[in-house]
Amino acid sequence: MLLGLLFFSCTKSGDNIKLDPVNVNDAGQGKNIIFLIGDGMGLGQITAARTVNGGDLNIFRCGITGIQSTHSADKYVTDSGASATAMSCGQKTNNYTLGIDINGNPLETILELAEKNGLSTGLITTSEIVHATPAAFYAHQTNRYQYEDIALELIGKGVDFFMGGGKKYFSQRTDSLSLIDSLVLKGYEVTDNLNLSGTSKMSAVFIAEDIPLKYLEGRGEVLSEAVWIAVNRLKNNEKGFFIMVEGAQIDWAGEENDQAYLMAEMLDFDRAVGKAMDFAEVDGNTLVVVTGDHETAGFALLDGDITNNTVQGGFMTWLHTGMMVPVFAYGPGAEEFIGVYENTAFYYKFLKFYGF
Ligand code: ZN
Ligand code: MG
Repeated sequence: MLLGLLFFSCTKSGDNIKLDPVNVNDAGQGKNIIFLIGDGMGLGQITAARTVNGGDLNIFRCGITGIQSTHSADKYVTDSGASATAMSCGQKTNNYTLGIDINGNPLETILELAEKNGLSTGLITTSEIVHATPAAFYAHQTNRYQYEDIALELIGKGVDFFMGGGKKYFSQRTDSLSLIDSLVLKGYEVTDNLNLSGTSKMSAVFIAEDIPLKYLEGRGEVLSEAVWIAVNRLKNNEKGFFIMVEGAQIDWAGEENDQAYLMAEMLDFDRAVGKAMDFAEVDGNTLVVVTGDHETAGFALLDGDITNNTVQGGFMTWLHTGMMVPVFAYGPGAEEFIGVYENTAFYYKFLKFYGF
């Protein structure tokens, strides 16, 4: 193998630009990836969250930035299935499909490739675990709403740690199968919260029968806590890990045109990014990538006051929009994410990082 080298990544902390040495090997020798997706998170959502949070976010601890285009194969405005598939599989596909190409052929996802190569994997979301964004990392479906079929696909994937809602698609199925029993047989500890015994190697955490609570309804800190638990469990694999973390309800808040809901979900997601950064900054072999899968609601900032943390947002639509979205990266290989590119580029950048 080629010699490792040392490079400097630029990290912004308050007003001080500091240079942190990061151990990085040549392409193909990276170890861990934490990929954090704010569903529906565009620059408006980020700027507003920054404003209500006193002018800073954990997201900005990633010193490297880029911009991605999110359109799908068949529509200028993507749905979450096609955009997550583009990022997980490297191909533009049609809206409302998961993990398949435009002809219906299954595509291998980055998570499946990670499993095949002996890495550990994790999926963490504030939506149902079978919802489009997480599902695009393990399922192959012509219709993203086939939740029971998607649940069945998760069983054999070997995902080492997952957390989300939607337990009913495993326990109260029209085919009467108990996929909870299937998970236990596969070696999972199945729980309804993050109080894990730690005796099982694999963890399935269902935080809701159906849709998880909003942060404002009392969901608690499960998103950031799950990130911390997952990285500290999966780091024990010498070969590395791939973890996808989704702030799912940023999108739902936008679709409800509810700014208070939106800000609470943004800051919850940002705290999860903070946990990923806390780990990566110490670990030195972990790439953190933060982005949105598309923008939602055409969220514009009409007025605000950064000195008293207030912002007046305006919603253009109840739907997704076609705006390009920002990308933030930190760690070895982060510089690969500089520039302007399609959402399909993530997959190839991840492949290069791992050397698959
Ligand atoms: Zn989405
Ligand atoms: Mg989603």
